[in-house]
Amino acid sequence: MSTPVRIAFLSCAALVIGGLVACATTPTGRKQLRLVPASTMEALGVQSFEQIKQEEPISQDPAANRYVRCLADALIAELPAKWRRKQWEVVVFDSDTVNAFALPGGRIGVYRGIMEVADAPEQLAAVMGHEIGHVLANHGNERVSQGLVAQGVMVSASVLTAGNPRTQQAVLAGLGLGAQVGVLLPFSRKHESEADLIGMDLMAEAGFDPHGAVQLWRNMAARSKGQPPQFLSTHPSHQTRIQALQKHLSVAVPKYESARSRGRRPACVPPR
Ligand SMILES: [Zn+2]
Repeated sequence: MSTPVRIAFLSCAALVIGGLVACATTPTGRKQLRLVPASTMEALGVQSFEQIKQEEPISQDPAANRYVRCLADALIAELPAKWRRKQWEVVVFDSDTVNAFALPGGRIGVYRGIMEVADAPEQLAAVMGHEIGHVLANHGNERVSQGLVAQGVMVSASVLTAGNPRTQQAVLAGLGLGAQVGVLLPFSRKHESEADLIGMDLMAEAGFDPHGAVQLWRNMAARSKGQPPQFLSTHPSHQTRIQALQKHLSVAVPKYESARSRGRRPACVPPR
């Protein structure tokens, strides 16, 4: 590990490595290391999504697609302009897997399995808000950056391109798509907790009752007595996250009430 990189990793100083600004701030104000160009993350997010669409069955159920698109549109409408302006593609996968994900570049995948656990609009909005939260906070980039530094990879603009196989593999793992590259790299508890709070704020601003996030995790806890679903196998304990979400209601409920008074009343109808 070169000295400048070590300094960036340890102190996250506003430092320039190979022409890249290494230090950034998440929506919650936390400092993070971010070495991969956003364009690289987005290109690989879009590329990975295309690959997943080839491999997973895509739902042709119009009601399910309409419902998930309605939730996504309500959430996307409240994103910062940079993210709102993207062409978000939303796909429902016809699989029992209890999972959902969002990728840089504006891609969202929701599996039928999680729609059975998140059985109300404000619960599925909480799931999708959480996944979008990972994207807004650049968690994938941070994980890749930490991985590159830990491996002592010489960080330069020429290495960090979408065409570089090593970068590609690291980015896929960082995006939580480790299964595709044979590297399991779970989101850290810190990232999960941060995505929970960003997601709760986002759903509230879109006019979804944030209590739905708490109910979601109660349903998850009741459901996961046996094999933990993929969506939460790497997440903090249910009790820890339910408590943190309940605490954050004092911030999110006023946002929700304000949104409702401004006419944010998404009418997304679950499929039968
Ligand atoms: Zn997560």
